[in-house]
Amino acid sequence: MKKEKISIVVPCFNEEEALSIFYREMKKEEKKMRNVSFEYILVDDGSHDHTLDVMKKLSLKDESVFYLSFSRNFGKEAAMYAGLSRATGDYVTIMDADLQDPPFLLKEMYSSIVEEGYDCVGTRRVTRRGEPRIRSFFARQFYKIINRLSNIEMVDGARDFRLMTRQMVDSILELKEYNRYSKGLFSFVGFRTKWLEYENVKRCAGETKWSFFGLFSYALEGIVAFSTKPLVISAFIGLFFFLISFIMIFAILFRSVLFGDPVSGWLSTICILFFVSGVQLFCMAIFGMYLSKTYLETKKRPVFIIRDTNMK
Ligand code: UDP
Ligand code: MG
Repeated sequence: MKKEKISIVVPCFNEEEALSIFYREMKKEEKKMRNVSFEYILVDDGSHDHTLDVMKKLSLKDESVFYLSFSRNFGKEAAMYAGLSRATGDYVTIMDADLQDPPFLLKEMYSSIVEEGYDCVGTRRVTRRGEPRIRSFFARQFYKIINRLSNIEMVDGARDFRLMTRQMVDSILELKEYNRYSKGLFSFVGFRTKWLEYENVKRCAGETKWSFFGLFSYALEGIVAFSTKPLVISAFIGLFFFLISFIMIFAILFRSVLFGDPVSGWLSTICILFFVSGVQLFCMAIFGMYLSKTYLETKKRPVFIIRDTNMK
């Protein structure tokens, strides 16, 4: 009987040190799972270091290793999409190159799909130890907000490390949007998902690629991509201020009829002006975010551009 194949998609951005360590660890894991074959799709997301050389070396000595190298840095979302679209396995998983996604979980993930009939086994970190406190705090708040705003559920601490069946991967690839937010896409397609929990692991080498600002705008992207409630909220804010202004017009009218109209209240007028124009700008910014995403979507630019690969 032909062995089933698992494709491992590895997005890499400046991971020259971590990648070889990752590969070594994965080979150990492979030995424990002799009933399946492996395929590695290493995606070089426009690294400035020798990541691509490491990939080429690995692919020369191991024919199950494939690489895709982007013409520039397109971001992890693009790298994951590229990997998923090229993977040929019966099951596909996405793993970070820094061993923060523990390879030993793979075996259990695979057997959960095969024996228990799940379509997907995801992993979630139950602790964020080793991560800056402020980052964990904002991450938790983000999950609270997005789950309130959006109809699909995003699991706190869920990683992109998940083993999926071919059917689920194909469904994800059917979603052709340019602004890809995988955490949302995974939930959007549905399917039966089992969650495995584990403790946060520190990066094996190299540094995190996420700045605080980078994570913040990624969070905003997620909200814009999977909820239109901010638009509704700004409509309510507008309605609220409309009502207030209505009441105020009447109050001022009565006052000037009853007590005359001495010129005073300049300061309060300015304060109100500043406040209301601030609120207006804020709401306009919300519209703008949706408009800019729509704008990018209509251009139909490719999500990634490949410069070098050993795949057909
Ligand atoms: N990554 C990528 N493109 C980017 C940023 C990151 O392919 O623009 C890869 C990176 O090489 C790593 C994974 O995405 O394999 C996760 O990145 P990182 O470890 O920096 O994120 P963290 O674990 O700190 O959230
Ligand atoms: Mg990491």
